[in-house]
Amino acid sequence: MEIVGHLIGGERVTENVKTLPLNNPATGRQEAELAMASSDQTMLAIKAATEAYPAWRATPPAKRAQVMFRFKALLEAHVDEICALVSREHGKIPHDAAGEVQRGIENVEFACFVPELLKGEFSKNVGPGIDSWSEFQPLGVVAGITPFNFPVMVPLWMYPLAIACGNTFVLKPSERDPSATLYVAQLAHEAGLPPGVLNVVNGDREVVEVLLNDPAIQAVSFVGSTPVAESVYATATNGGKRCQALGGAKNHAIVMPDADLDNAVQALMGAAFGSSGERCMAISVAVAIGEQTATSLVEKLKAEMSSLKVGGAQDNNNDFGPLITAEHRDKVVGLITSAEREGAVIVVDGRSPKLADEDTGFFVGGTLIDQVQSSMSCYRQEIFGPVLCIVHVDNLDEAMQLVDDHEYGNGTCLFTRDGEAARYFSDNIKAGMVGINVPLPVPVSYHSFGGWKRSLFGDLSAYGPDGVRFYTRRKTITQRWPSSTVRESSSFSFPSS
Ligand code: NAD
Repeated sequence: MEIVGHLIGGERVTENVKTLPLNNPATGRQEAELAMASSDQTMLAIKAATEAYPAWRATPPAKRAQVMFRFKALLEAHVDEICALVSREHGKIPHDAAGEVQRGIENVEFACFVPELLKGEFSKNVGPGIDSWSEFQPLGVVAGITPFNFPVMVPLWMYPLAIACGNTFVLKPSERDPSATLYVAQLAHEAGLPPGVLNVVNGDREVVEVLLNDPAIQAVSFVGSTPVAESVYATATNGGKRCQALGGAKNHAIVMPDADLDNAVQALMGAAFGSSGERCMAISVAVAIGEQTATSLVEKLKAEMSSLKVGGAQDNNNDFGPLITAEHRDKVVGLITSAEREGAVIVVDGRSPKLADEDTGFFVGGTLIDQVQSSMSCYRQEIFGPVLCIVHVDNLDEAMQLVDDHEYGNGTCLFTRDGEAARYFSDNIKAGMVGINVPLPVPVSYHSFGGWKRSLFGDLSAYGPDGVRFYTRRKTITQRWPSSTVRESSSFSFPSS
């Protein structure tokens, strides 16, 4: 059986004492075995990154960018292989996996700009004969810990920019689907990264604990569920590390009575059910303003959902695939059942989907739940499945209050034809990423990604301009070259120009 190991100091390492089966969630069958890193192996990766740092920091940014250009070319040349690995362990349909890879490549493209991004700030003559400039220096060894749902894109939010800024990196991918992540890291290495600049250590919380407690690690980027994000943030910052920890979500789409309902329904279908709803930006609640809007919305969604195709990645015409594990499928089914018990109406029930014979894995079909109340478990919790809840309200302020009151504040969107309402909404809503007639407002790589409230712990969002700030530290230098013909005299007052 194939053993999926680690990348430490530029070498593939597969020796192990503990392993974990890697299952195909579409069939439930084991496809490979994951070597789980020990604490000693994790420390070896940190040591490799520490040793690689001085030379990498001294490498001109333009040379570091050249590696990123080659990395981008390699990613583009190997899209099919990457997507196949994503499908095998995550279950994503190839067309969806290709979208993830493309958004990941865009982050590598942003990292190619690093000489421009690190240019700094310069002021001449801040005082007589005195010049001052600020530069952005790398931090040292940085760690990244990533979730299962984007095994290619989320790691690419982190290490290309961190490395391009002159840091070295230790990545701990999700133990559910690490093969694509490892394959992509090997391409980065092949693109010309010196050994030790990028290390991948596979495993579980044991690896995370070593990373969080090792004084050599200067900063931690985490993406995953909120309880883990919160605890990673607390441990990392208590240990004096810089940390950004992105957590879970409950993204609301508000549908105004004046919205183009047919287009809104098309947008909601992809945003709610794409990738089985296992996206942190998935729309999981549609808030209908007015009873007429709610009735039409539910009717139109129900009609569209009758042609949803759920199944394995072998058929690229399928709309979405399985959930990641049997436990997660059971949790999603349990939340649908709890909604029924608490008085909501199951309009479309995906608990026993029709499947092809080979699809013996962890599937839930598209599910539509109407008459959901904010007190219900299916509303309060992040479901992370192909389930759309409908909430009825009377006006926009009531809808916005619902969004603001939720513990999460990742993304949200408004469907409307009213520019004034759209402006009021985007100005006042308490969420980090806002769409106007755009259901998945995932920022492009040259902006930054981050939620509000309990969707992000830390001050800086991921990638883009915030990513550059996160992976560098400002130093301001003030310099004077006194003239040899002028005698300086002491001054005891505070220096000013
Ligand atoms: P998870 O929190 O279970 O795991 C994330 C990472 O943390 C994995 O590498 C895992 O091995 C590690 N981990 C898990 N438990 C740990 C523990 N107790 N101590 C230390 N490390 C631990 O998340 P997941 O199930 O892989 O991913 C889904 C979650 O991620 C969802 O909540 C989703 O909303 C969130 N997510 C958020 C964003 C965002 O940008 N906000 C993006 C993608 C996913």
